[in-house]
Amino acid sequence: MEKKFPAGIKKTRQREGVLSVLEKAKAPLGASDIYEKLKGGGETIWLSTVYRILEHFVQKDVVMKINVLDHEMAVYALSSDRHKHYAVCMNCHKIIAIDNCPMENFPLKMEEEFKILGHNLEVYGFCKDCNPK
Ligand SMILES: [Zn+2]
Ligand SMILES: [Zn+2]
Repeated sequence: MEKKFPAGIKKTRQREGVLSVLEKAKAPLGASDIYEKLKGGGETIWLSTVYRILEHFVQKDVVMKINVLDHEMAVYALSSDRHKHYAVCMNCHKIIAIDNCPMENFPLKMEEEFKILGHNLEVYGFCKDCNPK
């Protein structure tokens, strides 16, 4: 099946590979996760190439870069998944997608003073593997 490739970007096998890893991902991935998945799939690619492809996709607004834990790490997701929220484990840095948007249930009561276009929300703590008992 032919996947659609973003317009205005030259299609290469490695770029397609990076894109398909992000399409299958349930949560944003770090560059090294993407690199490992590509290598696991038999692709010959360097980590620096993965970074270069990701930066190119970010410039073209196909992919967004998300800085988490006070910019300690960066992860990447497709721009079409823009309105999603994630919880970050502060120990193992696992990222878990949150199914709902808390803002939908608790809209801010400030419509008269401020027109809200979007929001950013970062939830952090410990995942079930790291939760100290
Ligand atoms: Zn964890
Ligand atoms: Zn939201």
